[in-house]
Amino acid sequence: MASVELEGIKKAFGEVVAVKKLDLSIKEGEFFTFLGPSGCGKTTTLRMIAGFYYPTEGTVKFSQKDMTKVAPEKRNTGMVFQNYALFPHMTVFENVAFGLKVRKLSKSETQMRVHDVLKKVRLEQYSKRQVSQLSGGQQQRVALARALVIEPDILLLDEPLSNLDARLRDEMRTEILRLQKDYRITTIYVTHDQVEALTMSDRIAVFNFGVCHQIGSPKEIYNQPVNDFVASFIGEINLLNCELINRKEQESCTVKLLDIPDKTFYLYTEKIEEGLPPSSPLKLLIRPEGVELSLTELHEENVLKGTVSLAQFTGTSVNLHIQVNEKVMIKALALNKGELGWIENGTTIWIRLPKEQMRIVPSILG
Ligand code: ATP
Repeated sequence: MASVELEGIKKAFGEVVAVKKLDLSIKEGEFFTFLGPSGCGKTTTLRMIAGFYYPTEGTVKFSQKDMTKVAPEKRNTGMVFQNYALFPHMTVFENVAFGLKVRKLSKSETQMRVHDVLKKVRLEQYSKRQVSQLSGGQQQRVALARALVIEPDILLLDEPLSNLDARLRDEMRTEILRLQKDYRITTIYVTHDQVEALTMSDRIAVFNFGVCHQIGSPKEIYNQPVNDFVASFIGEINLLNCELINRKEQESCTVKLLDIPDKTFYLYTEKIEEGLPPSSPLKLLIRPEGVELSLTELHEENVLKGTVSLAQFTGTSVNLHIQVNEKVMIKALALNKGELGWIENGTTIWIRLPKEQMRIVPSILG
């Protein structure tokens, strides 16, 4: 096991700056995910850790040891690629044994290690099978076994589940986590799939355009996003243009929603992201599950009146779109019980935005 430290990392390919300036450290044994849309620099960062690319600037360290210019084969990392990169005409055994052959391990040691790892990924009965005769999920396991058999200090996984169907993806998620805990191996996982990131990771780094916007546990990223990009990339959310009327003076703060004139809302000051620049555009955030609903009029603060414009039944709940005016639509969630479970388009409804459920963050999306 090793920790990974990236210090002031930048990577440019000619004019294209794939990673702008990155500082992060990954702890020993951690399951750490790089999450972000296509082209945001996740794979480039992973490849700098593997040693396939050298950074234009900055330092890559493993357990505080400088690895920036160390060749990939000397880093003791195991990597699983999106397309698996297996040798199709070799057997499962030969594919998994490949890295040990290169390392010149004895035949008996190789036999033992390949056998052990194939057992771990539940493929021991397939060792003589050609890889081209395996299903996608089985090939995925071979790729994992091949990465694990060298007993790497760090396991690097680049969108390893993207070629699998939804059911297999679910299964392999559990499988990867089981193996990661069994081997207690520092793992870096690249994905653009928020569900994978939320369900698997100890911590997540959210990237966009070569910049890492936030690092935190799944709960921190979901509940305390630092800006509207992070908020909108993970889960459903309402993003409302707003202006702060008083800034962090008392326990409760007053906010004006720019698209709902003549209405003032109150939220707790600790729900305001630290260090907001005074003149930056701001967004008020609230998750659909944080919105409270009533079919009878509410005479309280933070209440809006709207009309249901979409009621989408999902089984356990109903996803609602509620039109407040021409510009503002609020997404909410009603559980499939009581009268709200039967709600239909056109219904008049009162929306309460609870103080503790709202946050104010800078807007980088505009
Ligand atoms: P995806 O999820 O689509 O794999 P990503 O987040 O992993 O995307 P990267 O592959 O790291 O993104 O790419 C980041 C940026 O760097 C992109 O604009 C990409 O076109 C560019 N890039 C990546 N590799 C190279 C290269 N070898 N030469 C030139 N540009 C590159």
